[in-house]
Amino acid sequence: MNTDLSIEGLSGLEERLSQDLEFLQLPARNWVPPRRHQSQIVRDVLIVGGGMCGLAAAARLKLLGVHNTLVLDRASQGREGPWVTYARMRTLRSPKQLAGPALGLPALTFRAFFEAQFGRLAWDTLDKIDRTTWMDYLVWYRKVLDLPVQNETRVETIESDRDDPALFAVTVESAGTRRTIHARHVVLATGRAGLGGKAVPDVFQALPPELWSHSEDAIDFAALKGKKVGVVGAGASAVDNAAVALEQGAASVDLFIRRNDIPRVNKFTGIGSPGVVHGFASLPDDEKWRFLDYVITEQTPPPRDSVLRVSAFPNARFHLSSPIHEVSAEGGQVTLTTARGTYQLDHLILGTGFNVDLGERPELAAFAPHIRFWGDRFEPPKGQENAELANSPDLGPGFTFQEKQPGACPALKRLHCFNYAATLSHGKLSGDVPAVSEGADRLARAIVADLFSADRDRHFADLQAYDTPEILGDEWQDADAPEAVGQG
Ligand SMILES: Cc1cc2nc3c(=O)[nH]c(=O)nc-3n(C[C@H](O)[C@H](O)[C@H](O)COP(=O)(O)OP(=O)(O)OC[C@H]3O[C@@H](n4cnc5c(N)ncnc54)[C@H](O)[C@@H]3O)c2cc1C
Repeated sequence: MNTDLSIEGLSGLEERLSQDLEFLQLPARNWVPPRRHQSQIVRDVLIVGGGMCGLAAAARLKLLGVHNTLVLDRASQGREGPWVTYARMRTLRSPKQLAGPALGLPALTFRAFFEAQFGRLAWDTLDKIDRTTWMDYLVWYRKVLDLPVQNETRVETIESDRDDPALFAVTVESAGTRRTIHARHVVLATGRAGLGGKAVPDVFQALPPELWSHSEDAIDFAALKGKKVGVVGAGASAVDNAAVALEQGAASVDLFIRRNDIPRVNKFTGIGSPGVVHGFASLPDDEKWRFLDYVITEQTPPPRDSVLRVSAFPNARFHLSSPIHEVSAEGGQVTLTTARGTYQLDHLILGTGFNVDLGERPELAAFAPHIRFWGDRFEPPKGQENAELANSPDLGPGFTFQEKQPGACPALKRLHCFNYAATLSHGKLSGDVPAVSEGADRLARAIVADLFSADRDRHFADLQAYDTPEILGDEWQDADAPEAVGQG
């Protein structure tokens, strides 16, 4: 029997959350005038992606009284994002106590979710959050806030509606059926690869596909049992993939690392503060660039636990100063040559991250030629040239895309990029756990302001039409009125 009295169970927590919301008078009532187009309901906001960012954005909009939103995710329910699909770490890197997507509501934090089920003692002894428990938390978050998510629904194209340029026409596919949804705003909460795809360096492009995988792929690790595996990269994903290959019985794992050392200090996380969260976006361009160029150049280390998970195996080998010069395939094997040697391998796993390449996102084809990137208008100081930063979208205050040619594509003002690619414009508010609530808040406030402004004639008409009196006229008398004077 569990004697930890702090366990209230999820139903108790849900009651607490519901009371907190009631005390705060949240969610606000639905205040956005409904619209129809081609006899269908128009969504005020359509969110593409039901991972952590999409859920936080939908939740914040709902609390602000924007109830007519819809979140779409191609993944099945409970499998959104990386956590139970291609994430291969045991735990989150983030410290367990972060408030994450809780939007300022204590009962919505991971800690509340965890303690309600397992008690205070279990919380105190918890080191880091298991990645599957984090997924459970996101599933609960969505359920308890009753967020409108449709799974197994892929957004195929986003275009301006032909008849009404104030609307997007979004084609979605679900179970083989296509339909069009109209929306006033579209938010791309499409994750790490949201504006592109897997980064695969040219040197690997010609390898037969069965000889390599990207860390984002669904890799059959059981098939790598007894095989010689090579892993390229030293980031968290590279190291966690190496660990799983070893745990699943790979004969050996060679990790090829370009640098002469594994990065050691997690710089940007180290200076995390409300100052960075709220101040970064308003820094001058050259300062934003300076910060992020430094962060990218220094690189983020893999978590210590992940490195230890690999180095525990005697058949794991770390090769530093080993940029890949050449790769070829013969007889079902890969021959890989680095600056320091040549290796015969059965399979390669690329932990080479993600890139921005709108050509890889068919849903954005209509807007891609109009989207402005930092490289289109900003010249970095000498010595700070950085292709990754130059390839960042140059976003407006509400995470909106901006036009390359002013006036050429006004709809971009209503298309929001709420994913990792927003970092240079907004700071780290749209990808990682620490400041996702602040990101969702910034995004939702901008959308709310725009929805109000776009409907101002309607709101003005409501203002004029509103006639419920507070003063009935029987509370006072005009002292100079003839009948009052007569009485005097
Ligand atoms: C392996 C891994 C580990 C991480 N660990 C941490 C950590 O410990 N701490 C931390 O702070 N951050 C971590 N991150 C970074 C970040 O928190 C995660 O990437 C997080 O999932 C970001 O949430 P998201 O909503 O932006 O993207 P995702 O969770 O990736 O969600 C995006 C969703 O969009 C959907 N989607 C994309 N395109 C379409 C489309 N066309 N139609 C319909 N749906 C679509 C996808 O199916 C997906 O579910 C990690 C990232 C990875 C990859």
